[in-house]
Amino acid sequence: MYANENTWVYLNDGFKQVKEVGASLFSQTLHYGNGVFEGIRAYSTEEGTHVFKAKEHYERLIYSAKVMGIQVDQSVEELIELTYELLEKNDLTDAYIRPLVYLDDNMSLFTPKTSVLFLSAWRWGKLLGDQESKLCTSSYRRPDPKSLHVDAKVCGHYVNSILACNEAKAKGFDDALLLNANGNVAEASGANFFFEKNGVLYTPPKGNILPGITRTTIMEIAKELEYKVVEKYFTPEEVYGADGAFITGTAAEVTGLYALDEQTFKMPFDETIGAELSRRYQLLVRNKKVELEMFV
Ligand code: PMP
Repeated sequence: MYANENTWVYLNDGFKQVKEVGASLFSQTLHYGNGVFEGIRAYSTEEGTHVFKAKEHYERLIYSAKVMGIQVDQSVEELIELTYELLEKNDLTDAYIRPLVYLDDNMSLFTPKTSVLFLSAWRWGKLLGDQESKLCTSSYRRPDPKSLHVDAKVCGHYVNSILACNEAKAKGFDDALLLNANGNVAEASGANFFFEKNGVLYTPPKGNILPGITRTTIMEIAKELEYKVVEKYFTPEEVYGADGAFITGTAAEVTGLYALDEQTFKMPFDETIGAELSRRYQLLVRNKKVELEMFV
């Protein structure tokens, strides 16, 4: 699914065929989860393949690496260039791109000085599919921001997401909604959360979340369409009975929700502000010109 025998990847210092490369079994990333990654999407547009918000994603990768003390040798511009080259080599236009910076061998608990850049890409539909989804409030909490850099995309942080996601699936839900250490809503396992009530959108503030690039895009579109977005803390009980809700992320894009726990939302997703923002998002990612006019 992620690769076949003709797949090219970028590893360390050049493009290689995936079947010819491997990683060390003593990498600190494999043993302790100290590594950083990104999730990016490319879309086919009238002006050719366009990597959506590539600069923002690579700036976040470099930020994540910095807080973990991980060396990244390439600049944002070089990383973007390599990404377009990777897509071309693999004959991909609509694709999901996975950059990973993993570490060299080290069984001690400090970050080794040397790291490896890995870039791969594959065709990938919406993370939760096209249908509306049902979330359950997780019994797992997001880590306290005093314990980890929660605003960085660090490999090890996803153990928490996997536990929550496994629990949600075992209970018959599509995904989990995790609370922060204080019991307020933080985010889904791999996406940010919004709900709407009486024409106003609400989303948790930065601090306990990965501040998603899709979240920012959705807030920008909402502003353009003159919808009010309020960033504030709230509990799951405050979400129950809302008009609608959705999650946002590069992999999930904008996914409408029909229920949180057993509480269904009042309006069909299609009639909500979220659905309008979702349609506008799809136009935006497939139109390089609009994106450039709107965000540069
Ligand atoms: N929160 C978490 C925990 C995530 O893994 C993601 C996906 N990167 C997001 C939010 C959404 O971020 P983005 O919109 O930048 O993909």
